[in-house]
Amino acid sequence: MNIRKKIIAGNWKMNKTVSEAKAFMQVLLKELEEYSASDVVVCPPFTALQSVSDLLNQSASQVRLGAQNLFPASHGAYTGEISPWMLREFFCHYVIVGHSERRIHLGETDIFINKKVKAALSASLHPILCIGENFDERQQGLWKEKISTQLQLGLKEVEEQKLADCIIAYEPIWAIGTGKNATPEQAQEVHHFIREEITRLFSFQSAQKVRIQYGGSVTAENAQDLLLCPDVDGLLIGGASLDVRSFCSIILNS
Ligand code: PEP
Repeated sequence: MNIRKKIIAGNWKMNKTVSEAKAFMQVLLKELEEYSASDVVVCPPFTALQSVSDLLNQSASQVRLGAQNLFPASHGAYTGEISPWMLREFFCHYVIVGHSERRIHLGETDIFINKKVKAALSASLHPILCIGENFDERQQGLWKEKISTQLQLGLKEVEEQKLADCIIAYEPIWAIGTGKNATPEQAQEVHHFIREEITRLFSFQSAQKVRIQYGGSVTAENAQDLLLCPDVDGLLIGGASLDVRSFCSIILNS
C-alpha cells in the first residue's frame, strides 16, 4: 500500500510582486479552504514571503510556505544570502535546493547543495532536493549515472531518521519550461530508479517513505496522468503554478 501523501508545490521563481502574490493567495486560500487531500506548498520569491506568510497565518487552510533557496549557515558575512533560521521566522516549512537553474546559472555543486540539505534539516525545514539529467545525458543513456551521483552526493551524511523529511524532485532539465514534459512512463521509470537508489543508500523502509515529486512542464492537462504513476508522489510546478486557476485545478484533481 502507498503510505505517501501527495505533495503539490508551486515554484514561482523570480515572478510576482507583493501585490500580485497577495491577489493570487486570496483566490488560492478561498478555493482550498477545506482542502487537505494532498499537501500544498507555495514557494514565492523572498520579497513576498512576509505577505504570503501573513495570509497563510490568518487562514484555516493547510497550504504551507516554502522558500526557493537558503544559505547553509545560521548567520554571518554572506552578503545577499538568507539563512534557514531567517526562513523559519516567516514560518516556512519547505525550501527548494539544487534547482537546475541555480546549478546552471549560479554554478551550485552537489557538495554545496548537500550542505544546504543538511542546513535545512537542522532548522526543521523540509528540503525539496531537485535532481535530473539534461537533454544530452538522456540522449546518451546517461541519466542513471547522473541521478545516482546527484542523490548520493546530495544526501551524503543525512541521518536516516531525517530522510522522510526530505522531498526529492525529479526535474529533467530538458522538460523544465520547455512545454515537453516527461511521459508518465518516463517519469515512473526514473522515480522507481530513484527509490531503488535510496534503498541502496539507506534502506527499503526509508525509501518507501520518501516522497518523490515530478517537475517539468506540468500543466492542468498532463498532471493527472503523471500522478497516477505509483512512484510519483507529487509535482513541483513552475509556469503553471503562476496562474491560480491552473494551479488550483491541478491540486483539486490530484
Ligand atoms: C521548475 O522550474 O521547477 C519547473 C518544473 O518549471 P516548469 O513547470 O515551468 O517546467
